[in-house]
Amino acid sequence: MHKLGLRTVGDVLFHFPRRYEDRRNLPPLKNLRAGEFATIRGVIDRVETRPTRGGKVLLKASVTDGTGYCTLVWFNQPWIAKRLQNAEREVIAYGMVRANDMRLEIHAPELEMLDEEEDAEAFARIVPVYGLTEGIPQWLVRKAAASAIEYFLDAVEEPLPKLFREEQDLTGLRWSLRQIHQPETMEEQKKARRRLVFEEFFYLQLVAQMRRLQAKREVGIKFDPAATADPTGLFGDQRQRGIWEEIHSMLPFELTGAQKRVIGEIMADMERPHPMNRLVQGDVGSGKTAVAACAMLLAVRNGYQAAMMAPTEILADQHYINLHRLFDPLGISVQPLSGKLPAQKKRKALQQAESGEARIVVGTHALVQDGVKFQRLGLAVIDEQHRFGVLQRAALRAKGEVQPDVLVMTATPIPRTLTMAVYGDLDLSIIDELPPGRTPIKTHWRRAHEREKVYDGVEKLLAEGRQAYFVCPMIAESDKMQTQAAEDLHYRLSNQVFPNRRVGLLHGQMKATEKEDVMLKFRAHELDILVSTVVIEVGVDVPNASVMVIEDANRFGLAQLHQLRGRVGRGQHQSYCILVGEPTKEESEERLRIMTETTDGFRIAEADLRLRGPGEVAGTKQSGNLDFKIADLIQDSILLEQARGAALHLLERDPELEHPDHSRIATRIRDIRRESALATIS
Ligand code: ADP
Ligand code: MG
Repeated sequence: MHKLGLRTVGDVLFHFPRRYEDRRNLPPLKNLRAGEFATIRGVIDRVETRPTRGGKVLLKASVTDGTGYCTLVWFNQPWIAKRLQNAEREVIAYGMVRANDMRLEIHAPELEMLDEEEDAEAFARIVPVYGLTEGIPQWLVRKAAASAIEYFLDAVEEPLPKLFREEQDLTGLRWSLRQIHQPETMEEQKKARRRLVFEEFFYLQLVAQMRRLQAKREVGIKFDPAATADPTGLFGDQRQRGIWEEIHSMLPFELTGAQKRVIGEIMADMERPHPMNRLVQGDVGSGKTAVAACAMLLAVRNGYQAAMMAPTEILADQHYINLHRLFDPLGISVQPLSGKLPAQKKRKALQQAESGEARIVVGTHALVQDGVKFQRLGLAVIDEQHRFGVLQRAALRAKGEVQPDVLVMTATPIPRTLTMAVYGDLDLSIIDELPPGRTPIKTHWRRAHEREKVYDGVEKLLAEGRQAYFVCPMIAESDKMQTQAAEDLHYRLSNQVFPNRRVGLLHGQMKATEKEDVMLKFRAHELDILVSTVVIEVGVDVPNASVMVIEDANRFGLAQLHQLRGRVGRGQHQSYCILVGEPTKEESEERLRIMTETTDGFRIAEADLRLRGPGEVAGTKQSGNLDFKIADLIQDSILLEQARGAALHLLERDPELEHPDHSRIATRIRDIRRESALATIS
């Protein structure tokens, strides 16, 4: 059982079935239909193996129950033939039924031999089906679970107090464990599952909320919004007045209501003598950089430094350019720091950060490396969090002498449930408004044979003085092939399609200085078209670029398409996003359709979560939190809300979980913390 990660009886009890089969009345084979999942029961009638042209083995076993036939098919799994050797064995098989000529087949079915099952008599019931790994038969896990229930269930202790369970309408743990493994009816199973899902969410929320509330009590920096470059003290009677005045004169535009609200929330945090841990979520183009700049201004005006960390060089450069433009007129020096800097410049950057000459330092993850020291770091801003881990957040925070305030910004909107699960330990601010004057991006999906028309449309926009992005097809195999694809597209566009236009190229294998050079040229409108791989995905901001053509768009994920599209629609011109693609799967067609229907990042995120699942959506680095045993973020979102409410409520009454009634909960929390600490170390 170790192969399944099951080492203790407890592990077995909490290894839940993946699904159930109601074997109380299986339909006869004559009623079997193609196109549906089915469980069949019958006797093996004939087994035949045949080599295929590729040197593999095709195995077919026909099963009958006297009313009809179904053929089980395995491709290149010759060892199964051995298992099937004695014909006339009674089997149960499960899988998708397909039609092949006139026969019905199940390919690579799940298979059970009834005479291997200890308990063939107890067959006519709802049977649990467990996740397996190679070499472990279903009956063995089933038997282990049944024994664990029979002999050890009484030893299981209920961690949730009775009153609490009543309040939350939850069944007892022992009852739930029995019903999840051996349900009498599916209604009972649902109740049991509800309890177990709740509990899983509940502990995670407790851990996250305790961390959040504890951080709020730690010693941090108390920033003073009145401490601005206002020596006259003219605004002194209204404490925040000074900083807002300065923000107003610093920014070239009026803040949106949402930006003002979020800046207010951030400032309220920063004014408290405790560390800030806040997540700012806003769709692409909602103006998160300006919000971060305001927080940085407050830190700098209080005599502290601010650091901003971005996930890529291009994005760090972009931030540097923007921040430099804002802060230079105020006499606040901004220093770029990234891995690509030549040694001498890098030394100078490091020295300026350490001496305090640089008030704001902007860079990539180079910022959290060992040699980097700050004179007095007061605020750490982390852009596009999902690309970093919690670890890097902590590493940047550790660069301060006291705990600096931390502001995390994420552009990929993720559904609320996922936010709660992944960033539960952060306070949340949402920028839910785009700057005014933007006309929504028009998105069209075009087939490959319509390319010429697409090019004509682009040419028209270029003639009006706009610029265009072309994103080249994504090829997962290798960087080299990706580069080749970009170079091919660049060649075709610059030589054949737009011979009179200036076409630039940007891909991941270029040197940092070359990339920078191309970006600067494009920004300065010395290029009309930029052909790029997905390196363009995050943060790049060229308002005059008003059309993006994404080649083979069906190969991209939804979140990625949305991010890419966010590069246009940043100026006052009508912008377009053209998805060129011939989707082969229903799912990829669905993605393209959603893109043409909405530009709302949160709606796209919901769809993405539905299509891809939570681990993928949150990005692998964070998905440790998302390996639920039984809970499902999509299906169980209401329970997650409930668990979060219950966790907060409990911590209000008993912040350290010291009450004797909560001792088992406290033990569970300690275990979870230890496990996650171990996971972090390894
Ligand atoms: P994101 O949230 O995607 O990081 P940015 O901060 O890059 O968005 O902002 C996108 C663009 O919108 C930038 O060109 C920025 O200067 C501009 N912008 C931000 N806030 C406003 C505003 N309140 N009014 C007008 N333009 C704004
Ligand atoms: Mg941004």
